[in-house]
Amino acid sequence: MAIYEGRQSSSVLRLSLDQEHTHTHIHVMDERNTPMRTYQVCNVMEASQNNWLRTRHIARDGAQRVYIEIKFTLRDCNSLPGVPGTCKETFNMFYYESNNANLWFIKESQYIKIDTIAADESFTQVDVGDRVMKLNTEVRDISNLSKKGFYLAFQDLGACIALVSVRVFYKKCPLTVLNLAQFPDTVTGGDSALVEVRGLCVNASEEFEAPRMYCSADGGWLVPIGRCVCKPGYEEHKDFCQPCRPGSYKASATDAYCTKCPPHSSSHLERASECVCENGFHRAETDPRSMACTRPPSAPENTISTVNETCVTLEWSPPRDTGGRGDITYSLRCRKCSGDDIKCAPCGSGVHFVPRQFGLSVAMVMVTDLQPHSNYSFTIESLNGVSDLSPTPRGAVMVNVTTSQTGRNTRGQTHEQTHYSFKQNYTVLKTRSNVMTVDGLKPGTTYVFRVRARTEGGYGNYGGEIELETSHEVKLPGSKTYIHPHTYEDPNQAVRDFAKEIDASSIRIERVIGAGEFGEVCSGRLRLQGKREIYVAIKSLKAGYSDKQRRDFLSEASIMGQFDHPNIIRLEGVVTRCKPVMIITEFMENGSLDTFLKKHDGQFTVIQLVGMLRGIASGMKYLSDMSYVHRDLAARNILVNSNLVCKVSDFGLSRVLEDDPEAAYTTRGGKIPIRWTSPEAIAYRKFTSASDVWSYGIVMWEVVSYGERPYWEMSNQDVIKAIDEGYRLPAPMDCPVVLHQLMLDCWEKGRSERPKFGQIVTTLDKLIRNPARLRELANSSVCREDPTTPEFSVSTVEEWLEAIKMGQYKENFSSAGYVTLDSLVKMDVTLAGHQKKILSSVQSLQTQGTHVQV
Ligand code: AMP
Repeated sequence: MAIYEGRQSSSVLRLSLDQEHTHTHIHVMDERNTPMRTYQVCNVMEASQNNWLRTRHIARDGAQRVYIEIKFTLRDCNSLPGVPGTCKETFNMFYYESNNANLWFIKESQYIKIDTIAADESFTQVDVGDRVMKLNTEVRDISNLSKKGFYLAFQDLGACIALVSVRVFYKKCPLTVLNLAQFPDTVTGGDSALVEVRGLCVNASEEFEAPRMYCSADGGWLVPIGRCVCKPGYEEHKDFCQPCRPGSYKASATDAYCTKCPPHSSSHLERASECVCENGFHRAETDPRSMACTRPPSAPENTISTVNETCVTLEWSPPRDTGGRGDITYSLRCRKCSGDDIKCAPCGSGVHFVPRQFGLSVAMVMVTDLQPHSNYSFTIESLNGVSDLSPTPRGAVMVNVTTSQTGRNTRGQTHEQTHYSFKQNYTVLKTRSNVMTVDGLKPGTTYVFRVRARTEGGYGNYGGEIELETSHEVKLPGSKTYIHPHTYEDPNQAVRDFAKEIDASSIRIERVIGAGEFGEVCSGRLRLQGKREIYVAIKSLKAGYSDKQRRDFLSEASIMGQFDHPNIIRLEGVVTRCKPVMIITEFMENGSLDTFLKKHDGQFTVIQLVGMLRGIASGMKYLSDMSYVHRDLAARNILVNSNLVCKVSDFGLSRVLEDDPEAAYTTRGGKIPIRWTSPEAIAYRKFTSASDVWSYGIVMWEVVSYGERPYWEMSNQDVIKAIDEGYRLPAPMDCPVVLHQLMLDCWEKGRSERPKFGQIVTTLDKLIRNPARLRELANSSVCREDPTTPEFSVSTVEEWLEAIKMGQYKENFSSAGYVTLDSLVKMDVTLAGHQKKILSSVQSLQTQGTHVQV
C-alpha cells in the first residue's frame, strides 16, 4: 500500500493497512520504475467471495469531515476469458468509528458503508510491468465524526482489483489576514455547515467592528464582516499597522492614514497621535487635532466713536492678525474718569451695552445710559478661542469719549441700517426690508417672533406670534451630521473642507471602465508620498463644462468626503487645480452590483448573498445615522470589491435628476426611479431614511433574484397602481422565507412601520449566525396563502401571459401544448432570457393559491 503524502492545503492522516483474508500484498514498479506496493485480489473464477482489507486506526485530528481518495485498478469482467457470471466490477468501502486505537477485530455488521465503488470512465494509464493499468481515482467523504478516530475497510465480493493508494485528509481554511484581522487555520465543519471564526486584530490595531468570517466546508473563507483599524499613532501598511513617522500623526483609530503635522505644530517621536504646538501657539480644547495651532489676535483697529447725548456708538475694524482663527470676539471695559488728575473707576451696572458687553461677534457696540457731561474710557479687547491659553497680554485698544447733555427719549431714533436695541428680556430687531436673518441663536431652542410696521405716522399693531425652533445642530457626542454642500455660500469651500486635493502627477490612469454623467470613469493607480500605491477609480469632468456642471460634479466629492465607513465608497481626493477636474475613489474590482449579479447568476450561497445585504444595510445605517438620505438606493448604485464587500455609492446632487436612466418624471414634475422609490416619496417627495428602507427592500429583491428587474417589464404607471392596491413583489426563486418577510417589512405602506437600518443589520446578523433559519424557502410550499398579496385574477394561459407582459409568447405556449394553468406548473421552460420571470410568476401563481379554471 502506497501512502500518498498530500502536499495541498489538506492535511494527511497517517495510514497503514492490515492485511486480512485473501488479499495479496505485492510489489510492482510504476511508470518511473520505482517500487509501488499494491493490494490485489482477483478470485474471479470462484463464487461466494467475501474478502476484507482494513486499515489501522486513523486519528481524526479534530476534523469532523474526512475525505478518502482511493486509487485503484479494476479489471473489466469481459476482458477476462472464461469467467463465470459471478465476476464483479465493484467493491465496497466501509468505516467504523472508535476511540480504541488497538482493535484487532471488528465485526462486519459493525461497519458503516461509505459507498460501492466502481471503475470510472475517466482514468489514467499506468504501465505496470508488461501490462497497462487503468488507474481510477475516487474521492468519498465521511461527515460528523466525533470519536478519536476510525478504521477504513474494503470489501471484495469477487472482482479483480488492485488497490494502489488510499489518501485520507481533511480540509482547513488557511490562516489569513483580512481587514487587519487575523483568522487562524480553521478545520472545516461537518455536513455543509459554516464555521464562524472571530478574527483577532493584528498588532497596534483595535476593533472597529468585530471582525468575523465563515470557513466553508470546502476550505474557503466567506463573507468577511467587520474590520480592525490601526490605533491612534499607527497607519495601515499591507497586513499590519506601522507607526506614524516623526512629523506626522494620526489622531483617531478611524482615520485612515498618518498625516503631516498641521502648521505651527510638530511631532518629534514616532507613533504620535497628536502634534505639539510651537511656542506661542495653542490648541483650544474643542479644536480638532487636524487644525493648525493658533495664537491670540492683535488689537482692534480704526476705532470710531459717535456720541449722541448720553449714548455712545463705538465701531472698529477687526484685528490685522486673527491669530489664524475665525472665532474672533470682542469684550469691552468701561471706566468713568473725573477730576483734574483724571481718576478712572469702573462704570458699574447702570451702563448698558447693546447687543452686549462681552463676547461680541460684531465690531460695533452701543453704550447707553451714560451720565451727561462725563468722560469715559473704553478698552476694546479682541479675543479668540486661544486667548485664555496664552500668557501674553491681550490685543486691546483704548477710546476716550465725553458725553453731552440728556436729550429726549431715544425711542424715536431712526437709523439707516438695521440695528439692535435692548429691552429687558426680549430683543427688538429693526429692518428696512421685509425679510430678516436672525443669527447667533442657540440650537434646539424655541424663539417667538412678533412683527410690527412703522411709518412716519408711527407704529402699527403687532401681528400674531410666530414660533420657530432652531435645529439641533449639536448632536450626541460621537455622531456626525452630514452637511449639505448647498448650505455653503461658496461650494468650492465645501470641496476644500471635505476632499483632499491630490496632485495629478501621483495618479496613473490605466483603463476606461465606465461612463458617468459627467465623463469617463477610469481605473488606475494612486501613489501618495509616503504611502503604498493603491488602485483607484478616477471620474473626470469632460471638457467644455459649465460652472454649474463643475459644481454638481464636485458636489459628489464634498458629500462622499464626509463619510468614513467600510460599506461606503471611500473618497481618496480630488484634482481641481488642473484640468481635467477629477474625483478619485477606492477601486471596486467587481463593478456595480446589478451587473455583477447577472454575470454570476445562481453562483453564490445564500449566506454570501445575506453577507452582501448585510454590508449594504450597515452602510445605510451609517448614512441614516448621519441624517443623510440617499434617494437612489438601487443595486446599480452599489459597488462590489474583490472580497465581495458591497459599498454604497453615487452621491452626486444632480444624480437623481439627470444621471439615473431609471429616473422618470412624475406628475409633480420631479424625476424619480419609480421602481425603487416608496409611495410617499413618489406622491409628495417625502424622502427620508424610511423611504431609503423601502428602496433597500427592492435591493434585497434584486440581490436574491441575481439582478432581475423589479416588477419585470411592467410599466411605471402599472407599478405605482399595483403598489397602491397592495401588491408586493413575490419572493424570487430559492428565496428564504425570512428574507422575503424582511422585504415585505421594508415595503410597509406606513413609513413608520418599516424597520430602521439598524434593525435590518441586526436581523441579518442573526441569520448569518444561525443559517438554519434560511433553510425554509418561500416558494417551496404550494398552498401557502399570503394575505398581503392580491390574487392574480387570470384563468387562461393567454390572460396570464398578458398579465405578466409576456404576450409575445402566447404562440409558443399554445403550440407546445400548454393551455391550462396546471400544465404550466409542470412545464420545462427553455425560453432564454424570460425563463426566470415566467418561472417565478408560475411560482407566484402557486404560492398565492390561485384557483385555476380553463
Ligand atoms: P457612476 O458615474 O458613479 O455611476 O459610475 C459609472 C460606472 O463606472 C459604474 O456603473 C461602475 O461600473 C463604474 N465605477 C464607478 N466607480 C467605480 C469604482 N470606485 N470602482 C469600480 N468601478 C466604478
